[in-house]
Amino acid sequence: MKRRNFLKGSMAGAAGLVVASTTSIALGRESGKKQKSALATDGNVTNKVDVLVVGGGTAGTIAAIQAGRAGAKTLLLERNSQLGGTTTTGGVSFPGLFDTWGKQIIAGIGWELVRESVELDGGKLPDFSKVPQRHWMNQVRVNQFLYAILAEEKCEQAGVQIAYYEFPQAITKTSKGWQVDCAGFGTRRRVLCKQIIDCTGGAEVVGMLNLPRLREEEIQPGSMLFKLGKANNPGRPNGPGSGLLDCYYIDGADSTNSRTVTAANLKGRKAVLEKVRATKKRLMHMQPEASFRESYRIEGETVITVDDYTSGRVFEDAICYAFYPVDVHKGTGFDRLEHLKPGIVPTIPLRALIPKDSRNIMVAGRCVSSDRYANGGLRVQASCMAMGQATGAAAVLAAKNGTTPLKLPLSEIHNLLREHGAIIPT
Ligand SMILES: Cc1cc2nc3c(=O)[nH]c(=O)nc-3n(C[C@H](O)[C@H](O)[C@H](O)COP(=O)(O)OP(=O)(O)OC[C@H]3O[C@@H](n4cnc5c(N)ncnc54)[C@H](O)[C@@H]3O)c2cc1C
Repeated sequence: MKRRNFLKGSMAGAAGLVVASTTSIALGRESGKKQKSALATDGNVTNKVDVLVVGGGTAGTIAAIQAGRAGAKTLLLERNSQLGGTTTTGGVSFPGLFDTWGKQIIAGIGWELVRESVELDGGKLPDFSKVPQRHWMNQVRVNQFLYAILAEEKCEQAGVQIAYYEFPQAITKTSKGWQVDCAGFGTRRRVLCKQIIDCTGGAEVVGMLNLPRLREEEIQPGSMLFKLGKANNPGRPNGPGSGLLDCYYIDGADSTNSRTVTAANLKGRKAVLEKVRATKKRLMHMQPEASFRESYRIEGETVITVDDYTSGRVFEDAICYAFYPVDVHKGTGFDRLEHLKPGIVPTIPLRALIPKDSRNIMVAGRCVSSDRYANGGLRVQASCMAMGQATGAAAVLAAKNGTTPLKLPLSEIHNLLREHGAIIPT
């Protein structure tokens, strides 16, 4: 697949565009092209890419690596300082579930990253041939710090350019894709791309485009993860200093905007401080940000219902499996916790990753088009990673063929995913 051919003539749709300065970043595949000294002084940058992934979290990292490995020129925009999102910055470093009923159901790039993190850390992987007594026993404990660095290494190897501390401010449709104007401190970036994958958790890009999103009046609590008394021993289930962090539930924690994220962080940290004072134990570890269970989901070309999920419906356009109980939190307990019946393995259709009536944009992650209770199972990390890989593959093929993902032959997406180690539902 020839990277350059992707873009041939494709940016004509951005005619009339005023670009303050065209330059390149000294990272990734753009280095070596002509550069203007303006980069250092006025902060204006323009990128022409095939695929723009917004949000370098659990799903987005995998989407970007898949797109890059399949030959697409890919830019990954992340508003925070590292990759991994909830898995790393949020501290939920025990991704699941890659297996069920005695066999692996999710593999591919997400699994590769998880497995290599554990191996490099000298940790232990669960035995997927054994059905655990409790579902969470086969979640994989990863060292969140190592995971984030390995994710960066894999992006670099795949030719993915990373832009931290940036987020989209304005998006305009062009005849061949999108113009996305982004802001970061000291940087104004204009991205011309063919496909967008929104992996922001709460479908922020979809919201900016005024495409339909779903949301409940009451959302699940978020959490602030920390460790009191004992040293944090990341990636270890047992031994001195458990790998599990302490958790404070933050009611109403909402990832939607800087105001609500600020409020959640303040509330979480205040509670930790109170706990330190009350217990007189030392604060040994605290995540830099709260983690968020729920905000917006998209209304996609199809909406996965809880009946689809709990019956293990195999969608005709299924692109990956998912597995977890329906797990919806309320306060410090559950609104609904429902285990799936033996043998049931839900699937995720491509149409649940495509906003209704849209073109050239997909989502991956917890914002998958689903009703609230189906989302309570779908939102877990292995499923988010599998969705990320599927959208990365679909975006590359759509960019290459000058079409929109929904119009691609499904077999082509499946074949590309299989080539990259993913498991496709049968
Ligand atoms: C406390 C808690 C416990 C959990 N327990 C488990 C568990 O045991 N097992 C399990 O598998 N799952 C668990 N989950 C669920 C799972 O971790 C998340 O649902 C999943 O990680 C979400 O992945 P995502 O890619 O959709 O979002 P995220 O991983 O949150 O990634 C979104 C990324 O987008 C970035 N971003 C957001 N907006 C913008 C923007 N406008 N521009 C640029 N970047 C942006 C964010 O900074 C972030 O990096 C838990 C979740 C929580 C909160």
